Amino acid sequence: MLHAQQAGIFHKTKIALVLAAACLLPSCMAANTPLQSAPDASTTETLVQKAERIHARTLVLDAHADIVLPETSKTYLASDGLSKVDPSKLRAGKVGAVVMSVAVGPGPRTKVGNAIAIEEANAKLSVAQKLASDHDEIAVATSASEMLQNRKNNHISLILGFQNARALGGDAEALDRYYNQGIRVFGLNHMGHNDFSDSSRPLYIAEKKDYEVAEEHGGLSKLGVAAIQRINALGGLIDVSQMSKAATLQTIKLSKAPVIASHSNVRALSNVSRNLSDEEIDAMGKTGGVIHVASFGAYLIDLSDPALLAAIRKVRVDHDLPEAYSYPYELYWEIPDLEKRTSFLMSMRDTIGPGSIDRMIDHIDFIVKRIGIDHVGIGTDFNHGGGVAGFNDASEAMNVTAGLVKRGYTADQIAKIWSGNFMRVFAEAERVGKTID
Ligand SMILES: [Zn+2]
Repeated sequence: MLHAQQAGIFHKTKIALVLAAACLLPSCMAANTPLQSAPDASTTETLVQKAERIHARTLVLDAHADIVLPETSKTYLASDGLSKVDPSKLRAGKVGAVVMSVAVGPGPRTKVGNAIAIEEANAKLSVAQKLASDHDEIAVATSASEMLQNRKNNHISLILGFQNARALGGDAEALDRYYNQGIRVFGLNHMGHNDFSDSSRPLYIAEKKDYEVAEEHGGLSKLGVAAIQRINALGGLIDVSQMSKAATLQTIKLSKAPVIASHSNVRALSNVSRNLSDEEIDAMGKTGGVIHVASFGAYLIDLSDPALLAAIRKVRVDHDLPEAYSYPYELYWEIPDLEKRTSFLMSMRDTIGPGSIDRMIDHIDFIVKRIGIDHVGIGTDFNHGGGVAGFNDASEAMNVTAGLVKRGYTADQIAKIWSGNFMRVFAEAERVGKTID
């Protein structure tokens, strides 16, 4: 039902976009200029045609999507029940590169918990590697130059990412093992603090009916510092998404290469704990980093709207969840009754809406105005809750380009947003790695 709704919204959005685009045509302005002759079809390009032209020649990169395992919840997947970044959708959306993240969620910080995390990471790594080996059109890229070579060969680049240091088993040197298997983008956190770093989303401990402490290490632990240094030395790209503010600022300061946020939005626009504060955004800009805006409805909502806040609280209280949250869906997994859980998810989705490309571009605009066009990109979080109306899987990527064209972004700027900025920092991280023993 969710999917049917999303599909409906998408079609409406697409039609609205086409109509809005059509209204930029001289013929549409005829009401103001009654004597104007009809446009010459051979020279007049509609906004959509222009966007399609730019989109086709741009290397379109998604800086963060998740890897699907057999047990992945179907609610995260596309309406056809498959990955939102499967090869056919990447092709259809003319997406030329995707970072697929070997991500593990929170879990017990014990030997057994670590072993389970490593097992999950290995399973995801195998799925991603199989994706490349099973499809001639997909090729793993381990550097920016390989991304360009793949593009020349008409191959889609699969860049392997890593998320959550729990899968290191308490050993920073385990990073080498992942690097040697092709992983190049490294994020230390997911939800919940780990032995390396504090998370922007402290974990809820069900037995205690309370959250873990807001900060455990005050940012990075000693292990976390060692991990950042190791990623730099390997020439990997550091990803600060989901770190606490202190950990993010410490990482930016410590790293010898620029860092990215692979899927993070602007806290000033959407006050969600995992979005970036102005201070973090400024620090990213000063050090040459890139913030990839996420097409994730719950991280795009305007929480300064009191009516919306009240409505979110009501849905939570109606489903016996605490009023306080760091993002509206938080703790839905603690609702034991499946029917009630589904009712919560549906009600919350109705309350906050599916998110929009327009709102995503508000976040892009904010970053561009604050720190410049060289510091922004796009990371979808597809297959893990990512997707907004009109951009709900990779096949719809053109709609984002159309949105950017509509806001006045040029072809060169759009190329930077879609992949130029990512490739710059990817190459720089590799270069810096070669200077470290
Ligand atoms: Zn994700």
